[in-house]
Amino acid sequence: ERRLEILKLWVDPVDMAGALMTVERFVDHGERPHSVFAVNPEKNFSVPRDPDLHEQFKNADLLIPDGIGVVLAARLLHRARLSRVPGVELMGEICRLSAAKGYRVFLYGAQEEVSAKAAELLGRRHPALQIVGRANGFVPEHEMPALVARINASGAQVLFLALGSPRQERWFAQHAGELTSVRVCQGIGGTLDTIAG
Ligand code: UDP
Repeated sequence: ERRLEILKLWVDPVDMAGALMTVERFVDHGERPHSVFAVNPEKNFSVPRDPDLHEQFKNADLLIPDGIGVVLAARLLHRARLSRVPGVELMGEICRLSAAKGYRVFLYGAQEEVSAKAAELLGRRHPALQIVGRANGFVPEHEMPALVARINASGAQVLFLALGSPRQERWFAQHAGELTSVRVCQGIGGTLDTIAG
């Protein structure tokens, strides 16, 4: 279905099942990294002010209605009945799908202890999940080529970007072209902190 414009941003009219089917299609049939970004009122405010970032959202492969504000705005502006697809819940569902289908997953972002704990808890929650690598979100710029090489060597198909917004969207714009195995990158903001508690 058609992408909806909401206050200078966009959102795709998907529910959780539709978002998950789209992700599965990206991994099974895609040939490049696809971006999955969350849309919420904070971004309606910040993204249109930054032309590069605005362009990145415009070109995103899937824009999920993360917050209730977007759902309400879609109803008022387009008479569209969306249901929320919170980024944190979509991430959980992608992990479940990945465990079931054998997709390899890489976590990039958050502080080292948070990343380690989140990886451990995700592994416990989804015993079949292959977390093939992780990196904390404080990799210096000169080590970025090595990180990209590590992601590629891991063969990860799913990359969770937990750098916060807009860092994660910028990272995708800069590095997606260097990723060889990744088919889906979800920007998950502070979700690893939430998982690690
Ligand atoms: N973070 C990071 N690298 C940085 C700065 C922040 O990995 O250089 C992480 C930080 O540890 C936290 C997340 O990015 O896990 C920021 O989450 P926040 O809630 O600010 O982002 P949002 O969910 O609002 O996009």
